[in-house]
Amino acid sequence: MTDVADLKKTLGRFHEENLGIYVHVPFCRARCRFCAFYMEMPGENRVQTFLSGLDHELRLYASDVGLRAIPVHTIYFGGGTPTTLPSRQLIRILNDIRYWFTVEDDAEISIEVHPGTVSPDSLRTLRQSGFTRLSVGAQSFDRNELRDLGGRAFGAEVRQVVSWARSVGFTNISLDLMYGFPGQSMESWQRTLGEALSLSPTHLSCYAYTLEEGSPFHREMMQGKGAAPDQEFQLVLEGEAVDRLVAAGFERYEISNYCRAGYECRHNMRYWHVLPYLGLGPSAQSSLGHARFGNVADLESYADSLKRGTLPLDEVTSLSPDQLDRERMVWGLRTLSGVPVRMKATEQKTTLLQTIRQLREQGLLQVEKQGRVRLTDLGMRFVDTVAVALL
Ligand code: SF4
Repeated sequence: MTDVADLKKTLGRFHEENLGIYVHVPFCRARCRFCAFYMEMPGENRVQTFLSGLDHELRLYASDVGLRAIPVHTIYFGGGTPTTLPSRQLIRILNDIRYWFTVEDDAEISIEVHPGTVSPDSLRTLRQSGFTRLSVGAQSFDRNELRDLGGRAFGAEVRQVVSWARSVGFTNISLDLMYGFPGQSMESWQRTLGEALSLSPTHLSCYAYTLEEGSPFHREMMQGKGAAPDQEFQLVLEGEAVDRLVAAGFERYEISNYCRAGYECRHNMRYWHVLPYLGLGPSAQSSLGHARFGNVADLESYADSLKRGTLPLDEVTSLSPDQLDRERMVWGLRTLSGVPVRMKATEQKTTLLQTIRQLREQGLLQVEKQGRVRLTDLGMRFVDTVAVALL
């Protein structure tokens, strides 16, 4: 746990021009088999503990840490499944953020939505209260695959949510899909992509399945059941997504993200461009200037710490200028537009430039005339190798 004064010392002279706020709502009705995120079942007491922790946390950051005057450009409610909370509680959180912070009139305000946790009325209330963007967790449109993943939504329910959302005025709707999990075939992935496109979303996120330690799939694997992801097949499925989505008019603007022109997720762009964001709620991570810090992944400790007036941080790191350059490079390379290299000749930067040269010789990076560095097609396949080399 960290005193506000200690965090302020780490932040030093902190002058950010704008801010994104991420709210981690840690509740889900059941755990999906691929998921290792921190989550809780939503009992009434647990929810009240969370809301009261959040009240304290907002006040501490806005008033005591001094972030109140920084214009907030984006807010993102993620989790967990934020919509396991009734819309009145979600709106209360949003209004509290507006009370404590300076939220711009045209801020992008996103919320992750899972079918089965929303209705036309709840979506209408969210829209009328200022949420501007929905991210719908679809994963797959194949009933058997969804059952195996432990999801509770089926294609028809996703279609229904999208239709309700449009009817109440949401025009910016994203769908989350997953590929390369055990049992998925090329044919079922093609059907899923086709179904997703038929709903005319403005944005699609296509994530490769990974075997996360702590997930039910991982436990099964340790008991000798199940299979590890087939990375070669995943690349084939990813290629199919690129071909289908680009042909349908989507731009691939980040390794896993596609959008119609002008519909990039502004909040997620902050992560890739290393712009400041404040994470609220248990296990949420923050990045302000050169400081990186994260909340404990435990609701009770989170709320207790805030009640005592201390921040529930389990780790605070201060990056050196060299580490900051490398972080910017690694995150920026995830975007298809790449990242500018502005280097003054220092010893550390010479080392970084040498790494970039080696990666270019291996065919993983390309350097453009204007001094921008981008991943090649090969680099996109080996993005983790590139990241390890750069960090
Ligand atoms: S994947 Fe999402 S909905 Fe499923 S358990 Fe994890 S956080 Fe909850």
